[in-house]
Amino acid sequence: MRLILLGPPGSGKGTQANMLKEKYDIPHISTGDILRAEIKKKSKLGLKTKKIMDSGKLVNDNIVLGIIDKCIETGECKIGFILDGFPRTIVQAESLKQSLEKRKIKLNKVINIIVSDEEVVKRISGRWTCKNCGDIFNTYTKPEQEKGKCDKCSGKLYQRNDQKEDVVRDRLKVYKKQTQPLIDFYKKEGNLVDINGLLPINKVFKKILKVL
Ligand code: AMP
Repeated sequence: MRLILLGPPGSGKGTQANMLKEKYDIPHISTGDILRAEIKKKSKLGLKTKKIMDSGKLVNDNIVLGIIDKCIETGECKIGFILDGFPRTIVQAESLKQSLEKRKIKLNKVINIIVSDEEVVKRISGRWTCKNCGDIFNTYTKPEQEKGKCDKCSGKLYQRNDQKEDVVRDRLKVYKKQTQPLIDFYKKEGNLVDINGLLPINKVFKKILKVL
């Protein structure tokens, strides 16, 4: 199974990708997670990309293409893959297309998860994570009992820079300008399927399974 999950930030791509990974036992490749891990390691790549990621803009195509090429070239992705957060630009989509054609690999589906702007803002800017145990709260859907403190371990709750409301709105602008054109790109390729991302997580998952 070879899939791309498309959709704005906060549309639930990561959640669905994790569920699909369990179901099909194939790697979940999230370029955002890979880049965040580099930042945590304070690697050269992490230091180079931190500022741009904090601002909600996209990192350079060549950096991301390097990461993806490595993943596709290694055995890990031979059995299939779920791409989450990649491609995000037409340049990336064209490059992936060439890379797959070279290896005579075909994509099964491109799942386009649709969610409104206001829902995206609510989901991301409402999200708070415990510094200590990693538990996640949401101001709108799962508020903590004591403001700023984790219910489980009393750890301090924090928000990543790119989860702040103004940055989320910038990320949406970037999505519309640079990533939304991929919807037409994959429509032309003939393998795009729209999924309503406003439904509960399990219903979204069922709908995805139905089209696979
Ligand atoms: P995500 O967790 O997928 O929302 O990604 C977080 C951030 O990582 C994005 O806002 C970008 O700065 C960067 N990023 C992740 N994937 C890509 C990509 N395919 N192209 C460019 N930048 C990316």
